[in-house]
Amino acid sequence: MLPIQMVDLKTQYKKIKEEVDLGIQTVLDNASFIQGPAVQEFSTALASYMGVKHAITCANGTDALQIAMMALGLEPGDEVITPSFTYVATTEVIALLRLKPVFVEVDKQTFCIEPEAIRKAITPKTKAIVPVHLYGHTARMEEIMQIAKEHRLFVIEDNAQAIGSDYTFSNGEKKKAGTIGTIGTTSFFPSKNLGCYGDGGAIFTNDDALANVLKMVANHGQSKRYYHDLVGCNSRLDSIQAAVLNVKLKKLDEYIDARRHAASVYDKAFAGHPKITTPFQASYSKHVFHQYTLILEGADRNGLNEFLATQQIPSMIYYPVPAHKQLMFASFGGSEYDLPATDWLTERVISLPMHTELAADQQKYIIDKVLEFLN
Ligand SMILES: *Cc1c(COP(=O)(O)O)cnc(C)c1O
Repeated sequence: MLPIQMVDLKTQYKKIKEEVDLGIQTVLDNASFIQGPAVQEFSTALASYMGVKHAITCANGTDALQIAMMALGLEPGDEVITPSFTYVATTEVIALLRLKPVFVEVDKQTFCIEPEAIRKAITPKTKAIVPVHLYGHTARMEEIMQIAKEHRLFVIEDNAQAIGSDYTFSNGEKKKAGTIGTIGTTSFFPSKNLGCYGDGGAIFTNDDALANVLKMVANHGQSKRYYHDLVGCNSRLDSIQAAVLNVKLKKLDEYIDARRHAASVYDKAFAGHPKITTPFQASYSKHVFHQYTLILEGADRNGLNEFLATQQIPSMIYYPVPAHKQLMFASFGGSEYDLPATDWLTERVISLPMHTELAADQQKYIIDKVLEFLN
């Protein structure tokens, strides 16, 4: 049995080495490091895969969120509704731009923002909603878009964890997660479902005018070379990363299938266990299992995490501290929030190894050890 990792990028690389090495070598031979053909090729292929008019690449998923909020012309003090149960990047950029993060609850089943909680948090200052498709499960976008329409709010989907997921509307129409809101963002951090070998990110929109502003913001507010019409930033995907992504994008659906298969093996093994709730999969969301996250009840969650480590099995608590309890947000009134579902999840979730290369013997060993500890 190979050593078990949360994400096994080495084994994955071995299988695509020839293609990836060739792509990188081509960039080196052409010395086209910035905005080269590999980046153009990737943007086009990504937009086509996502079924969206514009895919604008940038330096990372955090920048993608920041650029999205800058391009929407939000003003200091404007309120942005976001879940507290998410990776810090989502909420951090709101504060960085001197907007006001308004933290709301997530649904205990899907780990995603609760539409009713959004409704209750809306004030005359609310300008945007940032749903996060956490762990690879989509938020309830149909309801969220309805709320946004009623209150004229922007929706920025943080799709760093659910690239490739399909969302099905009640009329049967399907769209890719990240292409439903005003803007969608994603990250190509190596461990993400579509990861490069460094940092990378992208922004999606179907709005031509907005796409133009997003491109300008990501490139020093430039409309043509050396003409800077607005304050922007410098956020680029480099060509070497694009070369890696060109190979991996073609494999994304295969990678998602591998993750979904691994999840089904775990699901079967843990089904009906009195202390374990396996990941819920709503009918509207195709789960892409960025993480495989259990909810444990009546069990020593941290004890399991430590026990697994002694058995050479990594496991992770995503996330041990919700945003509203981070010191970063103390001056934003973080401690005044009462988010019981978020706190409840924070104390009970544990994520098991999940990646495209999990072998049957590895999964059997993980499952045996989890059950051994919980029985
Ligand atoms: C990874 C991640 C980000 C940030 O992406 P980076 O590329 O690391 O900047 C943002 N939001 C969520 C939910 C993420 O998981």
